[in-house]
Amino acid sequence: MTDCIFCKIAAGEIPAEKLLENDDVVVFRDLNPQAPTHLLAIPRRHIATINDLQEQDAALFGKLFLAAKEVAALEGIADTGYRTVMNCGEGAGQTVFHIHLHILGGRAMGWPPG
Ligand code: AMP
Repeated sequence: MTDCIFCKIAAGEIPAEKLLENDDVVVFRDLNPQAPTHLLAIPRRHIATINDLQEQDAALFGKLFLAAKEVAALEGIADTGYRTVMNCGEGAGQTVFHIHLHILGGRAMGWPPG
């Protein structure tokens, strides 16, 4: 999608601090971190929200979590614990309409989330 900021990050058209890239997934640091480690894992392919997922996206979705596991180990938060969050829709706080898995760690996390 031409005017999607995360499509542009995936394509290397705008800068981001990337920690992992493969054919399907890109992980980069969030610009406005909410924890000492705050990363975003995105599929290269544009999918706007969880509501747009199709059956054939199941493996791709799994790859987002495999990438999360890999970067959590790289960042040293695999054992201390981390939270993964994917907001769906404005009411849940989604502001960028290209699905992304937040990976947050490096501090204690409260529950319930705000
Ligand atoms: P959400 O509110 O769940 O849609 O999350 C969007 C996230 O994208 C926020 O945490 C923003 O800080 C982050 N973000 C927006 N633009 C950029 C960017 N250019 N590079 C890195 N992170 C970004």
